[in-house]
Amino acid sequence: MNIGLVDVDGHNYPNLALMKLSAWHKNCGHSVEFANMFGQYDVLYASKIFSWSADDEYCYATRDTKRGGTGYNFNTLPDEIEHACPDYELYHCTSAYGFLTRGCPNKCSWCFVPDKEGDIRPHAEIDEFLDGMKSAVLMDNNVLASDHGIKQIEQIARRGIRVDFNQGLDARLIDAPIAKLLSRVKWLAPLRMACDSLAMLPRVKSAVKLLRAAGVTPQRYFCYVLVTDIDSALVRVESLRAINVDPFAQAFRDKKGTPPTREQKDFCRWVNHKAIFKSIMWEQYV
Ligand code: SF4
Repeated sequence: MNIGLVDVDGHNYPNLALMKLSAWHKNCGHSVEFANMFGQYDVLYASKIFSWSADDEYCYATRDTKRGGTGYNFNTLPDEIEHACPDYELYHCTSAYGFLTRGCPNKCSWCFVPDKEGDIRPHAEIDEFLDGMKSAVLMDNNVLASDHGIKQIEQIARRGIRVDFNQGLDARLIDAPIAKLLSRVKWLAPLRMACDSLAMLPRVKSAVKLLRAAGVTPQRYFCYVLVTDIDSALVRVESLRAINVDPFAQAFRDKKGTPPTREQKDFCRWVNHKAIFKSIMWEQYV
């Protein structure tokens, strides 16, 4: 059986679902490759993350196309595929990728997670997808909201596995014991949090204080800043700068994918272009 894979909007960032499908089909003895114009495929899997991404414009020779991913509003794989160890060769990964938990107990109005994934629940043990690697990119939406997630972090710290919580850690859940646990973790990337509203600012400041007091030592602390209203985003960005936390601005898109305004895009460019951000203030940039 010939299997073709199409990563519609991954831009070379490893697509976890495709890696799992690849592993599962290879275990069945099937031939798997990224689809190309010359291939003939019994089944073609197309995966898309963002609903606003354009579909792949090419036509592939196949009898059966299956579309999945949050971009197609279809986000589940059968259990035997969902829990297969990913095929890391597909993207030449040097770190493992996976989820320890799925879902989130919160319901932030702008976020797709509550609708698409539901409440927080255990998903996997780290060994399900580690595959002998020394580092892992963990894509959990709110790992600290789960006892299972915290137990897995304890194991990760004990075994010296280097990690990146690439969706960020919830600052509201970082208290002194969690900061102490995180001080034992080896970091693959900056420690990330989110400051999506003014109400989050004191929570982020308190988390940063606790983390620094506990000696949590990633290279940098990094904070996602959702940009809806520019005045609010500016207060958050400057407050983060003042405590030596790197802001990363993300322009708000509603669930229909309406493009951000020109001002939101300019603001994000100012914040995210570090040479500009360090040299001029927003008022001058405008
Ligand atoms: S805490 Fe994060 S993952 Fe959970 S609903 Fe809010 S934005 Fe989404």
